[in-house]
Amino acid sequence: MILILGGTFEGRTLAEALDSRGVAFILSLAGRTDDPLVAGRVRTGGFGGPEGLAAFLRAEHVGVVVDATHPFATTMSANAVSACREAGVRLIRLERPGWADEPSAREWHWVDDHAQAASTVASLGRRRILLTVGRQHTLDYSPALDDRFVLARVAVPPEGELPIGWRLLISRGPFALDDERRIFADEAIDCLVTKDSGGAHTSAKLTAAAEAGAAVVVVRRGVTDGPLEQVASVEEALSLLLAG
Ligand code: NAP
Repeated sequence: MILILGGTFEGRTLAEALDSRGVAFILSLAGRTDDPLVAGRVRTGGFGGPEGLAAFLRAEHVGVVVDATHPFATTMSANAVSACREAGVRLIRLERPGWADEPSAREWHWVDDHAQAASTVASLGRRRILLTVGRQHTLDYSPALDDRFVLARVAVPPEGELPIGWRLLISRGPFALDDERRIFADEAIDCLVTKDSGGAHTSAKLTAAAEAGAAVVVVRRGVTDGPLEQVASVEEALSLLLAG
């Protein structure tokens, strides 16, 4: 049995590709959003740490795990490494390349974490910020940016009160370039804050920022003690799985 740790476009695409070939799999989702939009067997919710995942692998006779979680879902990825090690299960990490590899002549500021991102934005003196760092980290930018206009775009609202002067934009990608351009123009955005999520689905904001002359602050990916088998695309993951 194949277990896909998902919550990403890549996880869903891999599940659909296996499904269309009649290969059995379980797709696991954290359950943060509704509507998983996928065929096949889907399970939802945490496993209960690495021990819970190791027990699940044994109970379901999982022979290979594909960790296709988001590049910033670092807890789940670390849990997958230790659970697979403990249960003696093969682990393939499917991680899309970061935006770091893209050539750019823009004003980009790379930072290690959200605290550094907040202080960088504050020091740049930019006043109108598009904040796209996800529900869990949105409020990390308060109080550093409480005196700015912040348009916080999230798929799911954060828990807690937003500072006065901030606005929430509930929206889920993919985002089209023309829509991103409109946001930068209508809201006079002069700074974009993002994680290095990589991929094409959310990269239009980088182009829109460059066109608008906005600064871009990018939170780097963390380095995790990873599995030996690492692939960057669904196609590569699929060929490893089909090769057995
Ligand atoms: P995380 O911090 O790495 O994981 C927190 C806990 O959530 C894990 O310890 C695990 O609970 C559970 N979990 C996470 N992914 C799971 C999965 N695919 N199946 C079952 N349980 C899962 O993860 P996160 O950053 O909160 O992300 C949650 C989900 O959203 C992930 O599936 C990820 O791919 C997706 N996502 C994340 C981001 C992001 O920026 N972080 C963006 C887009 C999508 P237990 O310890 O109880 O097993």
